Amino acid sequence: MKNEGFTYSETLDILKRHNITPRKGLGQNFLTDKNILSKIIDAAELEADDQVLEIGPGIGTLTRELALKSGRVVCVEIDDRLIPVLQDTTSCFSNITVVCGDILKLDLSQLYRKHFQDGRIKVVANLPYYITSPIVMKLLEEEIPLKSIIIMVQKEVARRMAASPGNKEYGALSVAVQFYSNPEMIASVPPTVFIPPPKVSSAVVRLDIKESPGYRVKDTSLMFSIVKAAFGKRRKTLLNALVGVRGLENKETVREVLESCGIEPERRGETLSVQDFCRLADCVSASDH
Ligand code: SAM
Repeated sequence: MKNEGFTYSETLDILKRHNITPRKGLGQNFLTDKNILSKIIDAAELEADDQVLEIGPGIGTLTRELALKSGRVVCVEIDDRLIPVLQDTTSCFSNITVVCGDILKLDLSQLYRKHFQDGRIKVVANLPYYITSPIVMKLLEEEIPLKSIIIMVQKEVARRMAASPGNKEYGALSVAVQFYSNPEMIASVPPTVFIPPPKVSSAVVRLDIKESPGYRVKDTSLMFSIVKAAFGKRRKTLLNALVGVRGLENKETVREVLESCGIEPERRGETLSVQDFCRLADCVSASDH
Protein backbone atom coordinates (compact mmCIF):
# COMPACT_ATOMS: atom_id res chain seq x y z
CA MET A 1 0.00 0.00 0.00
CA LYS A 2 1.73 3.19 -1.13
CA ASN A 3 1.24 6.16 1.18
CA GLU A 4 3.03 8.61 3.43
CA GLY A 5 2.69 6.45 6.54
CA PHE A 6 5.66 5.00 8.34
CA THR A 7 6.32 1.26 8.47
CA TYR A 8 7.12 -0.62 11.66
CA SER A 9 10.87 -0.26 11.21
CA GLU A 10 10.67 3.40 10.09
CA THR A 11 8.63 4.17 13.23
CA LEU A 12 11.22 2.47 15.43
CA ASP A 13 13.99 4.43 13.68
CA ILE A 14 12.24 7.80 14.14
CA LEU A 15 11.58 7.10 17.83
CA LYS A 16 15.20 6.04 18.33
CA ARG A 17 16.64 8.97 16.40
CA HIS A 18 14.67 11.43 18.57
CA ASN A 19 15.25 9.44 21.74
CA ILE A 20 11.50 9.04 22.40
CA THR A 21 10.07 6.33 24.63
CA PRO A 22 6.28 6.16 24.11
CA ARG A 23 4.31 7.38 27.16
CA LYS A 24 1.63 4.95 28.22
CA GLY A 25 -0.06 7.63 30.33
CA LEU A 26 -0.63 9.71 27.17
CA GLY A 27 -2.12 6.81 25.22
CA GLN A 28 0.85 6.73 22.84
CA ASN A 29 0.38 3.77 20.51
CA PHE A 30 1.84 4.67 17.14
CA LEU A 31 0.20 3.24 14.03
CA THR A 32 2.59 1.35 11.74
CA ASP A 33 0.30 -0.24 9.16
CA LYS A 34 -0.14 1.43 5.78
CA ASN A 35 -3.18 -0.68 4.98
CA ILE A 36 -5.06 0.55 8.08
CA LEU A 37 -3.87 4.08 7.36
CA SER A 38 -5.42 3.83 3.89
CA LYS A 39 -8.70 2.65 5.40
CA ILE A 40 -8.81 5.71 7.67
CA ILE A 41 -8.01 8.03 4.77
CA ASP A 42 -10.56 6.37 2.46
CA ALA A 43 -13.25 6.66 5.15
CA ALA A 44 -12.52 10.40 5.43
CA GLU A 45 -13.30 10.86 1.69
CA LEU A 46 -10.92 13.82 1.54
CA GLU A 47 -11.17 16.49 -1.15
CA ALA A 48 -8.45 18.98 -2.08
CA ASP A 49 -10.25 21.83 -0.29
CA ASP A 50 -11.09 19.91 2.92
CA GLN A 51 -9.91 21.29 6.25
CA VAL A 52 -8.90 18.70 8.83
CA LEU A 53 -8.38 18.75 12.58
CA GLU A 54 -6.17 15.91 13.84
CA ILE A 55 -5.96 15.14 17.55
CA GLY A 56 -2.70 13.56 18.74
CA PRO A 57 -0.52 13.49 15.59
CA GLY A 58 2.27 11.58 17.39
CA ILE A 59 5.19 11.29 14.98
CA GLY A 60 3.06 12.42 12.04
CA THR A 61 2.25 9.25 10.15
CA LEU A 62 -1.46 10.07 9.65
CA THR A 63 -0.73 13.81 9.50
CA ARG A 64 1.40 13.49 6.35
CA GLU A 65 -1.22 11.48 4.49
CA LEU A 66 -3.94 13.95 5.55
CA ALA A 67 -1.80 16.85 4.30
CA LEU A 68 -1.31 15.12 0.96
CA LYS A 69 -5.04 14.56 0.41
CA SER A 70 -6.61 17.71 1.89
CA GLY A 71 -6.21 21.48 1.81
CA ARG A 72 -5.20 22.13 5.39
CA VAL A 73 -4.37 20.14 8.51
CA VAL A 74 -4.29 21.53 12.02
CA CYS A 75 -3.07 19.06 14.62
CA VAL A 76 -3.07 19.30 18.40
CA GLU A 77 -0.41 17.35 20.28
CA ILE A 78 -0.01 17.45 24.07
CA ASP A 79 3.52 15.96 24.27
CA ASP A 80 6.12 18.68 23.64
CA ARG A 81 8.78 16.00 23.02
CA LEU A 82 6.95 15.21 19.76
CA ILE A 83 6.96 18.77 18.37
CA PRO A 84 10.55 18.57 17.00
CA VAL A 85 9.74 15.11 15.62
CA LEU A 86 6.71 16.53 13.79
CA GLN A 87 8.77 19.45 12.49
CA ASP A 88 11.16 16.88 11.07
CA THR A 89 8.61 14.42 9.60
CA THR A 90 6.25 17.05 8.15
CA SER A 91 8.82 19.59 6.92
CA CYS A 92 8.00 18.96 3.25
CA PHE A 93 4.35 20.03 3.72
CA SER A 94 3.30 23.68 3.83
CA ASN A 95 -0.35 23.02 4.80
CA ILE A 96 0.20 21.60 8.31
CA THR A 97 -0.08 23.64 11.52
CA VAL A 98 1.03 21.98 14.74
CA VAL A 99 -0.49 23.26 17.99
CA CYS A 100 1.09 22.05 21.24
CA GLY A 101 -1.71 21.68 23.80
CA ASP A 102 -4.27 19.54 25.56
CA ILE A 103 -7.33 19.06 23.32
CA LEU A 104 -9.57 18.84 26.40
CA LYS A 105 -8.45 22.28 27.62
CA LEU A 106 -8.49 24.12 24.30
CA ASP A 107 -11.32 26.43 23.32
CA LEU A 108 -12.37 24.73 20.08
CA SER A 109 -14.27 27.76 18.73
CA GLN A 110 -11.16 29.87 19.15
CA LEU A 111 -9.02 27.18 17.50
CA TYR A 112 -11.51 27.04 14.62
CA ARG A 113 -11.58 30.83 14.16
CA LYS A 114 -7.79 31.09 14.31
CA HIS A 115 -6.82 28.28 11.97
CA PHE A 116 -9.72 27.44 9.65
CA GLN A 117 -11.72 29.20 6.99
CA ASP A 118 -15.52 29.18 7.13
CA GLY A 119 -17.09 25.80 6.42
CA ARG A 120 -17.52 22.42 8.01
CA ILE A 121 -14.29 20.65 8.94
CA LYS A 122 -13.41 16.96 9.33
CA VAL A 123 -11.79 15.48 12.41
CA VAL A 124 -9.49 12.56 11.67
CA ALA A 125 -7.49 10.95 14.47
CA ASN A 126 -6.03 7.91 16.09
CA LEU A 127 -7.27 8.93 19.53
CA PRO A 128 -5.51 8.50 22.88
CA TYR A 129 -7.72 5.81 24.43
CA TYR A 130 -7.63 7.08 28.02
CA ILE A 131 -9.76 10.10 27.05
CA THR A 132 -11.76 8.90 24.02
CA SER A 133 -15.22 9.64 25.44
CA PRO A 134 -14.41 13.14 26.79
CA ILE A 135 -12.85 14.07 23.42
CA VAL A 136 -15.84 12.79 21.44
CA MET A 137 -18.31 14.51 23.80
CA LYS A 138 -16.37 17.77 23.53
CA LEU A 139 -16.30 17.61 19.73
CA LEU A 140 -20.03 16.93 19.60
CA GLU A 141 -21.15 19.42 22.23
CA GLU A 142 -18.96 22.43 21.42
CA GLU A 143 -20.37 24.48 18.65
CA ILE A 144 -17.84 24.10 15.85
CA PRO A 145 -19.03 23.23 12.36
CA LEU A 146 -18.15 19.56 11.79
CA LYS A 147 -18.80 17.43 8.73
CA SER A 148 -17.50 14.10 9.99
CA ILE A 149 -15.33 12.49 12.64
CA ILE A 150 -13.18 9.54 11.57
CA ILE A 151 -11.42 8.01 14.56
CA MET A 152 -9.53 5.01 15.78
CA VAL A 153 -10.90 4.00 19.18
CA GLN A 154 -11.04 0.89 21.35
CA LYS A 155 -13.35 -1.65 19.76
CA GLU A 156 -15.50 -1.70 22.88
CA VAL A 157 -16.02 2.10 22.65
CA ALA A 158 -16.90 1.77 18.95
CA ARG A 159 -19.60 -0.73 19.92
CA ARG A 160 -20.90 1.62 22.62
CA MET A 161 -21.23 4.43 20.07
CA ALA A 162 -23.48 2.35 17.82
CA ALA A 163 -25.38 0.39 20.53
CA SER A 164 -29.19 0.28 20.61
CA PRO A 165 -31.48 0.60 23.67
CA GLY A 166 -31.68 -2.55 25.76
CA ASN A 167 -28.14 -3.57 24.79
CA LYS A 168 -25.66 -3.69 27.69
CA GLU A 169 -23.27 -1.42 25.75
CA TYR A 170 -25.93 1.29 25.34
CA GLY A 171 -25.18 4.37 27.45
CA ALA A 172 -24.76 8.15 27.57
CA LEU A 173 -22.09 8.02 24.82
CA SER A 174 -24.48 6.09 22.51
CA VAL A 175 -27.21 8.69 23.01
CA ALA A 176 -24.86 11.64 22.38
CA VAL A 177 -23.23 10.07 19.31
CA GLN A 178 -26.57 9.05 17.79
CA PHE A 179 -28.21 12.38 18.62
CA TYR A 180 -25.57 14.33 16.68
CA SER A 181 -24.42 11.83 14.06
CA ASN A 182 -24.85 8.60 12.13
CA PRO A 183 -22.11 6.24 13.33
CA GLU A 184 -20.60 3.60 11.06
CA MET A 185 -18.03 0.91 11.83
CA ILE A 186 -15.27 1.02 9.20
CA ALA A 187 -12.65 -1.55 10.22
CA SER A 188 -11.41 -3.74 13.06
CA VAL A 189 -7.77 -3.24 13.98
CA PRO A 190 -5.56 -5.72 15.89
CA PRO A 191 -3.11 -4.53 18.62
CA THR A 192 -0.10 -5.78 16.60
CA VAL A 193 -0.11 -2.81 14.18
CA PHE A 194 0.88 -0.33 16.90
CA ILE A 195 4.15 0.49 18.67
CA PRO A 196 3.76 -0.36 21.49
CA PRO A 197 0.68 -2.64 21.07
CA PRO A 198 -2.27 -1.59 23.24
CA LYS A 199 -3.90 -4.21 25.51
CA VAL A 200 -7.20 -3.99 23.62
CA SER A 201 -8.45 -4.37 20.05
CA SER A 202 -9.30 -1.21 18.15
CA ALA A 203 -11.72 -0.08 15.49
CA VAL A 204 -12.03 2.75 13.00
CA VAL A 205 -15.42 4.46 13.12
CA ARG A 206 -16.92 7.26 11.11
CA LEU A 207 -19.49 9.63 12.59
CA ASP A 208 -21.31 11.58 9.90
CA ILE A 209 -22.56 14.70 11.61
CA LYS A 210 -26.21 15.48 10.96
CA GLU A 211 -26.50 18.83 9.22
CA SER A 212 -29.89 19.54 10.72
CA PRO A 213 -30.85 17.81 13.96
CA GLY A 214 -32.27 14.35 13.43
CA TYR A 215 -34.17 14.77 16.70
CA ARG A 216 -36.02 17.80 17.90
CA VAL A 217 -35.70 18.88 21.52
CA LYS A 218 -36.32 22.30 23.06
CA ASP A 219 -33.48 22.24 25.61
CA THR A 220 -30.51 20.08 24.60
CA SER A 221 -28.54 20.71 27.78
CA LEU A 222 -31.53 19.62 29.91
CA MET A 223 -31.83 16.48 27.77
CA PHE A 224 -28.19 15.62 28.40
CA SER A 225 -28.55 16.19 32.16
CA ILE A 226 -31.41 13.68 32.06
CA VAL A 227 -29.28 11.24 30.02
CA LYS A 228 -26.33 11.59 32.43
CA ALA A 229 -28.55 11.06 35.48
CA ALA A 230 -30.34 8.10 33.88
CA PHE A 231 -27.09 6.27 33.09
CA GLY A 232 -25.14 7.57 36.09
CA LYS A 233 -27.26 5.37 38.32
CA ARG A 234 -27.73 2.57 35.82
CA ARG A 235 -29.29 0.05 38.15
CA LYS A 236 -31.87 2.49 39.46
CA THR A 237 -35.32 2.98 38.00
CA LEU A 238 -35.94 6.31 36.28
CA LEU A 239 -38.13 7.27 39.24
CA ASN A 240 -35.08 7.13 41.54
CA ALA A 241 -32.34 8.10 39.10
CA LEU A 242 -33.84 11.37 37.87
CA VAL A 243 -34.49 13.06 41.23
CA GLY A 244 -32.33 16.19 41.40
CA VAL A 245 -32.23 16.97 37.67
CA ARG A 246 -33.30 20.56 36.88
CA GLY A 247 -37.11 20.68 37.04
CA LEU A 248 -37.29 17.27 38.77
CA GLU A 249 -36.72 18.19 42.41
CA ASN A 250 -38.50 15.26 44.06
CA LYS A 251 -39.96 11.84 43.37
CA GLU A 252 -43.49 13.17 43.00
CA THR A 253 -42.50 15.51 40.17
CA VAL A 254 -40.45 12.76 38.50
CA ARG A 255 -43.44 10.40 38.61
CA GLU A 256 -45.84 13.06 37.29
CA VAL A 257 -43.58 14.02 34.39
CA LEU A 258 -42.77 10.42 33.40
CA GLU A 259 -46.46 9.53 33.44
CA SER A 260 -47.37 12.66 31.48
CA CYS A 261 -45.14 11.53 28.64
CA GLY A 262 -46.16 7.88 28.78
CA ILE A 263 -42.94 6.44 30.24
CA GLU A 264 -43.38 3.98 33.10
CA PRO A 265 -41.51 5.26 36.19
CA GLU A 266 -40.19 1.75 36.92
CA ARG A 267 -38.25 1.58 33.63
CA ARG A 268 -34.47 1.98 33.61
CA GLY A 269 -32.56 4.53 31.51
CA GLU A 270 -31.03 1.89 29.26
CA THR A 271 -34.48 1.02 27.83
CA LEU A 272 -35.11 4.57 26.54
CA SER A 273 -34.37 5.43 22.91
CA VAL A 274 -32.83 8.76 21.88
CA GLN A 275 -36.32 9.80 20.80
CA ASP A 276 -37.69 8.90 24.29
CA PHE A 277 -35.01 11.04 25.96
CA CYS A 278 -35.95 13.99 23.73
CA ARG A 279 -39.66 13.54 24.49
CA LEU A 280 -38.93 13.29 28.22
CA ALA A 281 -36.82 16.47 28.16
CA ASP A 282 -39.63 18.33 26.40
CA CYS A 283 -42.13 17.12 29.03
CA VAL A 284 -39.81 18.39 31.80
CA SER A 285 -39.48 21.75 29.99
CA ALA A 286 -43.27 21.95 29.61
CA SER A 287 -43.93 21.15 33.28
CA ASP A 288 -41.40 23.78 34.37
CA HIS A 289 -43.41 26.73 33.09
N1 SAM B 1 -1.56 9.84 15.37
C1 SAM B 1 -0.46 9.02 15.83
C2 SAM B 1 -0.51 7.67 15.17
O1 SAM B 1 -1.56 7.33 14.62
O2 SAM B 1 0.49 6.96 15.20
C3 SAM B 1 -0.44 8.88 17.36
C4 SAM B 1 -1.70 8.31 17.98
S1 SAM B 1 -1.56 7.94 19.69
C5 SAM B 1 -2.80 6.70 19.83
C6 SAM B 1 -2.35 9.29 20.52
C7 SAM B 1 -1.63 10.64 20.46
O3 SAM B 1 -2.41 11.59 21.21
C8 SAM B 1 -0.24 10.68 21.09
O4 SAM B 1 0.63 11.34 20.23
C9 SAM B 1 -0.43 11.47 22.39
O5 SAM B 1 0.71 12.16 22.82
C10 SAM B 1 -1.56 12.41 22.00
N2 SAM B 1 -2.37 12.91 23.13
C11 SAM B 1 -2.64 12.29 24.31
N3 SAM B 1 -3.44 13.05 25.08
C12 SAM B 1 -3.67 14.21 24.38
C13 SAM B 1 -4.40 15.39 24.67
N4 SAM B 1 -5.08 15.55 25.81
N5 SAM B 1 -4.41 16.38 23.73
C14 SAM B 1 -3.73 16.23 22.55
N6 SAM B 1 -3.03 15.12 22.25
C15 SAM B 1 -2.99 14.12 23.14
